Parts: sequence; structure tokens; C-alpha cells
Amino acid sequence: MTLETVELRKAFGGVVALDGASVAFRTGKVNALIGPNGSGKTTFFNCVTGMIRPDSGRTTYQGQEITRKPPHAIARAGVGRTFQLCRVFPRMTALDNVLAAVRPGGFPKGLRGARSRSDLDRARGWLTRLGIEHLADAEARAMSWGQQKLLELAGVLMAEPETILLDEPAGGVNPALLDRIGALVRELNAEGRTFVIVEHNMDLVMSISDHVVVFDRGRPIAAGPPSVIRTDERVLGAYLGV
Ligand code: ADP
Repeated sequence: MTLETVELRKAFGGVVALDGASVAFRTGKVNALIGPNGSGKTTFFNCVTGMIRPDSGRTTYQGQEITRKPPHAIARAGVGRTFQLCRVFPRMTALDNVLAAVRPGGFPKGLRGARSRSDLDRARGWLTRLGIEHLADAEARAMSWGQQKLLELAGVLMAEPETILLDEPAGGVNPALLDRIGALVRELNAEGRTFVIVEHNMDLVMSISDHVVVFDRGRPIAAGPPSVIRTDERVLGAYLGV
């Protein structure tokens, strides 16, 4: 198991977002986390990446306790993530965005010459791999939404994480790009990276995942391969609200 939680709980005032969530994602697999709106998926991502502190419960990564560690320590342990609302620096070029990702906080303007050759090569390499190398010198804000999502992912990949959490990679992305993102996840997984993906697009989830965990009201109600999850009555019930 790569990323595992035991009885994670988080309430916002009277709203229980995570209600004792115990989940185990698998090393070397494409894992998906699905569930109706408000079922706690984003809160779960935020807790396991150290962005918010759970009220109780534990998280381990590769057997090591990471509960309550700060985000940079969890990133250093090998967990990278993207955000639903895509975090890039809008006024920086695509290349500078990817380079800034290796040194959180970014670089002062004009320092590109001082950066190491290997970082530059790697940054260009990821832009090429993600099919946006022609935009290396364009400002992020001039890129389409889907291109910005690829750019964010390029930044995550710069840190060479073993495990990548993607928060709605398909959200707002056109169908052609959707196919590319799906293929890319499978390729990066074949190279050894583990994925955990929160996604509403069921076609994408069912076509790229090995293991699907379903949340309802702050806790998992089912887990298994897509073929089983697709027909699970509890899952259908959660989505239909019965
Ligand atoms: P999902 O990602 O599955 O849509 P969320 O984790 O965003 O679910 O939300 C779970 C519940 O927690 C929802 O009822 C939501 O309104 C509530 N919630 C999430 N974040 C906050 C917050 N910062 N303050 C108050 N309530 C929140």
C-alpha cells in the first residue's frame, strides 16, 4: 500500500467532511477516488497532502507516518499533487513555471542564466513530453485551460514524485486533450509512478484506473476494480441519492 489513512476525520463547524475515512491506495497502480459532490474528496486530498489538518486519524505513506506534516515535507517524501483550480503563475512563462516548481517560491526575474543546465533540460523535456514545448516562452495566462493543466502537471513532474495526486484532471478540458491526459497517466504509470485521481468523468475513470475507491458522506462505501464498481449497488445508490 502506498498511501493509507486510518479513521481520518475532519469537520468544518457542524459539517463533517471526513467521517472516519480509512482508505488504502495501491503502489504502482492508477487509483481513483470518486463520489458525489460534497462527499469529502477534496478535503481528503487536502488532509493527506498537509494542506489542512485532520481533527483525528492517521495517514501513512510507504509505511511512514505523515499525519500533520507540512506540505513541503510530504512533497519531499515523494507525493506530488495538482489542484482542481490549477495553480500556475499566470505572468510567468511556461518554462519559468516549470523551473519554479523545483525551487518552491520561484526565482527572481532574470535569473534563468544562473539555473543549472540540467534543470533547464529537464524542464524542456517535460514540456515536450506533455506536448506544450512550443509554448515554453508564452506566459501561462495566454495558454488555454487545458494547456495550463498540463503545465501544472509538468511542474509536479519536475520534482520526480513517486506518487501523483490529480484533482479533477479532466475538468473543463476538451475531448481531444482528455484522451491525451488519459494516455499520459497510463504511460507515466507504466514507468513506475503511482496515481490517485479525483475525477468526475466516469468514462475516463473507468478506462484508466486499476483500483477505484468510492466516497459517500465522508467515508469510503466501496473499493475495487472498475468492472466491479460500475455495477455496485451502493455506488449507484450514492450517485442517485437513494
Ligand atoms: P468533494 O470534493 O467530494 O466535493 P469536499 O471535500 O469539497 O467534497 O466537501 C465535503 C464537505 O465539506 C462539503 O459539505 C463541503 O461543503 C464542506 N467543506 C469543505 N471545505 C470546507 C471549508 N473550508 N469550510 C466549510 N465547509 C467545507
